[in-house]
Amino acid sequence: MGMGMLQIARAVTYLFKARCFAFALGILSIAYTQSILAQNTALPTKPKNIIILFADGVTGTQLEFGRNSSQLLRQQPFAATDTVMKHGSFALMSNQPADAYTTDSAAAATAMSTGYKANNGAIAITPDGQSPPTIMAIAKAQGKKIGLITTATIYDASPAAFSVHAQSRRDSEHIVNQYAELLPDVLMGGGADYFLPKSESGGKRQDGKNILDRFKAKGYLVVNEVGPLIQAHSEKLLGLFSMEDMDAEIDRAATVQPSLAQMVSAALKTLSSQGKKSKGFVLFAEDENTDTDGHRNDTAALMHDLWAFDDAIKVALEFQKANPDTLIIVTGDHETGGFSPTNGPKNSGLENGNRSNSVALAQLKKINAFKASTQQFAEVAAVKVREGYSQKKLEEFIVQYLQNEFPGIALDDGLKEQLTSQLSKGVVSNYSPVANILSQAIARQTGFHWGTTGHTNEPIVAAAIGPGSQLFRGYQDNTDFARKLQQLLGWSK
Ligand SMILES: [Zn+2]
Repeated sequence: MGMGMLQIARAVTYLFKARCFAFALGILSIAYTQSILAQNTALPTKPKNIIILFADGVTGTQLEFGRNSSQLLRQQPFAATDTVMKHGSFALMSNQPADAYTTDSAAAATAMSTGYKANNGAIAITPDGQSPPTIMAIAKAQGKKIGLITTATIYDASPAAFSVHAQSRRDSEHIVNQYAELLPDVLMGGGADYFLPKSESGGKRQDGKNILDRFKAKGYLVVNEVGPLIQAHSEKLLGLFSMEDMDAEIDRAATVQPSLAQMVSAALKTLSSQGKKSKGFVLFAEDENTDTDGHRNDTAALMHDLWAFDDAIKVALEFQKANPDTLIIVTGDHETGGFSPTNGPKNSGLENGNRSNSVALAQLKKINAFKASTQQFAEVAAVKVREGYSQKKLEEFIVQYLQNEFPGIALDDGLKEQLTSQLSKGVVSNYSPVANILSQAIARQTGFHWGTTGHTNEPIVAAAIGPGSQLFRGYQDNTDFARKLQQLLGWSK
């Protein structure tokens, strides 16, 4: 029996309906795709300028401490949390290196710059010996100006891994040689020693070359003090303000070494000097002191360096107001020190009493009265030992020094012995155990405790504000950070 007219009509209607449905689905899916595209194209996802503000050794605990102390002690908002995190977006990032659970600065910066994991100590070189391109090399290839700033030596692990390659973070001369090839438009920090030959005072270069002269010949303005830096008008700027690391903010002589905010301000002036003609820039500005303070367990120094870091964020935010096509990213590489401002019972654990574990305004005021870093104390005390002070004279000196520079802090008896025995060894490195012994006394007497003198594996905050900032959300890995920057720079392999 053939198909009746009615059945045919039904079948046609059905087919028609089905086609309509499919057509409607098609429209819907096109509309959906378009709405996604519209979402993506509506957002200016490729900023002209990118400013990466990088606090070494800093994550959530430190940022909260910065916010709290800045509000209570200097009555100022903390831009990292109160502006960038609150009004922008932020991600947490895991950060373990290829060969360990806890990272160093070299491996962390390698992951964030190249998108690949490295072993601790390696500068943008993977465990299998590859040298994937760094974010600054990519930015330069895309026609952008580039700048590197740090309060450490400019050849230190983080700025190095964001721009060049080395088997070891200790290959200082090799890293500086690569800077002389890459020629970042701005280069600022400490570490003049590896730009000068050994024959010159403070110089450490084995090859006898003067790299400052090479930069001058390439048209760079070379400055080494804060005055000339503020006056600087140039398209290329090399500022080296110390032979080795620059000073912690609490010890800094403001007429000699610039603050991080002053360096960022000078860099932004230099990098934007071509105005609308330029293709923009990528600036990496690091506060390394926040990590060093963590290694020394120095709470007061950390507080002042967090404020100094935040002042640099404020300079970047001002620049962004005038240049809205600028993305600002606030991040770090790992947590340092297992920092722990506490609210717990007194005398828990340590026998050496006098522990006040409930951190509040009174304890903040106490550390705010300190006038020096604990490292400064270690260095001054070491000089007295070298001068041949007797045990009694040394103890008198320590009591007097603490009264003047660390009011309200006295060395506990047990720590006094440790201190004397450390001082008698006469060794004062950048990370002096003497500094940590004083830090321990301060922790016991203020409640700002520390879990370690090394790094921890706390996830890292990456906060962003401006065009492209929506990429920095959720829980990510530090290798994702590089891929997002590559995307924002319009680069693909
Ligand atoms: Zn460190």
